[in-house]
Amino acid sequence: MAERRLAVVSGASSGIGAATAHALADAGFAVALGARRVERLHDVAAAIGPAASALPLDVTDQASVDAFCAALDRCDVLVNNAGGAKGLAPVADADDDHWRWMFETNVMGTMRMTRALLPHLRAGGDGHVIMVGSIAALEPYPGGAGYNAAKYGVRAMTSVLRQELLGEPVRVTEVDPGMVRTEFSEVRFEGDAARADAVYAGMTPLSAEDVAACIAFAATRPPHVNIDSMLVMARDQYGAQRVHRRDRGGS
Ligand code: NDP
Repeated sequence: MAERRLAVVSGASSGIGAATAHALADAGFAVALGARRVERLHDVAAAIGPAASALPLDVTDQASVDAFCAALDRCDVLVNNAGGAKGLAPVADADDDHWRWMFETNVMGTMRMTRALLPHLRAGGDGHVIMVGSIAALEPYPGGAGYNAAKYGVRAMTSVLRQELLGEPVRVTEVDPGMVRTEFSEVRFEGDAARADAVYAGMTPLSAEDVAACIAFAATRPPHVNIDSMLVMARDQYGAQRVHRRDRGGS
């Protein structure tokens, strides 16, 4: 039997990353899962079965990225999903640590993983880098500056990479979700569950599985087809700032 192609998913211990690992395994890939919360990661891998392996990964730490990547003997798809937001403060009150976290995780982390795995992606003859961006990469909103800047950065990197790899057998895709019910808002508001719940009040957000299905769709096109970008939002959301909330008659 032919060896399964390998998909690497960063940030696979929860949310979109965990759902993507499931979706890609269902699509026939072997999946290598990375994140910092190793127990959670092992639970996700165990639920997938023998096609999944789990390894500790902190994308903000070059030594951790090196160790993770050294354990892989191939990589056909890289899903740069590890990321998130911290805070919703206006620029006037910007928190340096929050901004650093967002840049280190979303931007530098994506660069580190891509740089490390490009040799495998090229060598396999049909590589694919998939970035998990955001509507925040397309539309700035008050309080979002740090996250907007980081995801705009990811978007710029995606476009540059696509051009740099033109003519090589490596595809580059960005999937930009709107509101998705994951641990994203708990992380953004540092464990404030009530504030996180309020984000989704009265509307139906996307699920992690909805976004994973888009990622799997892009990853399962024939090698000559590059889905450059995909913006996916809940029916209840238009752009970064307009959400229809049934309990308030829309906003
Ligand atoms: P979650 O918080 O549920 O998942 C984030 C994942 O990233 C976790 O598995 C976390 O694992 C991992 N992660 C965070 N920091 C690191 C790190 N330094 N090294 C390795 N892994 C890390 O949120 P989502 O699933 O929603 O987020 C996934 C991606 O989707 C992010 O890039 C986010 O910006 C993006 N996104 C989310 C939206 C939403 O509304 N939910 C909308 C648009 C985009 P661990 O803590 O174990 O390391």
